[in-house]
Amino acid sequence: MMRYKYLIVGGGMTADAAVRGIRELDTEGTVGLIGDEPHPPYARPPLSKKLWRGARPESIWRGTQDLEVTLHAGRRAVGLDAVRHEVRDERGETYGFDRLLLATGGAPRRLPFGAEDVVYFRTLDDYRRVRALADEHLRFAVIGGGFIGAEIAAALAASGCRVTMLFPDAGIGSRIFPAGLSSFVTDDYRQRGVVVWAGETVAGMRRDRSGFVLRTRSGRDIPADAVIAGIGIIPNTELAERAELPVNDGIVVDEQLRAGAPDVFAAGDVASFHSAVLDRRMRVEHEDNALAMGRLAGRNMAGAAEPYTHLPFFYSDLFDSGYEAVGEVDNRLSTVEHWQEPYRKGVVYYLRNGAVRGVLLWNVWDQVGAARRLIAEPRTWRAADLRERLPERP
Ligand SMILES: Cc1cc2nc3c(=O)[nH]c(=O)nc-3n(C[C@H](O)[C@H](O)[C@H](O)COP(=O)(O)OP(=O)(O)OC[C@H]3O[C@@H](n4cnc5c(N)ncnc54)[C@H](O)[C@@H]3O)c2cc1C
Repeated sequence: MMRYKYLIVGGGMTADAAVRGIRELDTEGTVGLIGDEPHPPYARPPLSKKLWRGARPESIWRGTQDLEVTLHAGRRAVGLDAVRHEVRDERGETYGFDRLLLATGGAPRRLPFGAEDVVYFRTLDDYRRVRALADEHLRFAVIGGGFIGAEIAAALAASGCRVTMLFPDAGIGSRIFPAGLSSFVTDDYRQRGVVVWAGETVAGMRRDRSGFVLRTRSGRDIPADAVIAGIGIIPNTELAERAELPVNDGIVVDEQLRAGAPDVFAAGDVASFHSAVLDRRMRVEHEDNALAMGRLAGRNMAGAAEPYTHLPFFYSDLFDSGYEAVGEVDNRLSTVEHWQEPYRKGVVYYLRNGAVRGVLLWNVWDQVGAARRLIAEPRTWRAADLRERLPERP
């Protein structure tokens, strides 16, 4: 049996950040990392952005191997005994640990049809598969109008492919953007040649002689050579469930990121934590959270005992617009919009009972810290008071 002082299950950005957190406090303890992808940890955001704009493929690697870590790539952990401090992989190998981190992230939500013909865009291998298809300038159908669907549709269209988007919502990003902004973004996609079928649900797909045909609920047939779906992820909680650790939309962690057993921690996309600032439990599927939470989990595994108080931000790029967002950015909240230039540059504030809970910075930069401070202020606001609260720094 292999034995590590620190064992990490999951080979993503959280895992890499955790190794760095451990190494800040313990340069000698043995670290093992079990990841079921055949690669060492890499950055996911470039897969739908920078790599399509000429960034070098090598730029995604995190360099985890340089931190005195034993990588068990291509191995899937299938069993956890939190009492005996052991993890088992799918080949029957056992790994002992003093401290364990579950950084297992999430798996794409799948459609009830299409099987392997649909690419669920999440990994480097998915990127490579889509890139090879894009180089042939095929016709793509992209199912989903959230982050992944919007980004990959933009990347493919900018690469000269014919793209049709389909999703049940009213417009692109409409779960987070106010209606006017979502409608502007959707029109912008259309003007750039993307065919957008909003308010459409795909009911099934079949092969025909030239590729695939997607059938929508309203009876429309959409032909495509390749089909990509980005319809959300489901947290990978199986190991925690098998070990009877608390799970509720993710692995439930305490403020020091312990997962219901003294020597087991969880972090990143898979972890459900209590946000002190927002005073609610949440699970965040974004890079800043993966990096900050992963690092803190690593530090705490090495004995730091620090609380996770970070309010994560997220970002996205859609053609030549970009945004950063902090807190609860959810169109079910009431919003106050301040546009320097309508839908091209401005700030959207998301309020609950008059208090700012989230901020969307649309083509406005260097204001994430100020947005965090605004959300932390224990007061209510009138719309007029929020004007110019977060101007872009000159
Ligand atoms: C295409 C794409 C673009 C993105 N763009 C942005 C962006 O612009 N901005 C932003 O803020 N965020 C973005 N994100 C989200 C961000 O990348 C994620 O939040 C982050 O990568 C999560 O890291 P993680 O390590 O927690 O989980 P994951 O990335 O899911 O990594 C978990 C890893 O663990 C492995 N694993 C799971 N279970 C097991 C097991 N039992 N045994 C072994 N291995 C296992 C998985 O295969 C995976 O490799 C993007 C994500 C994707 C996919």
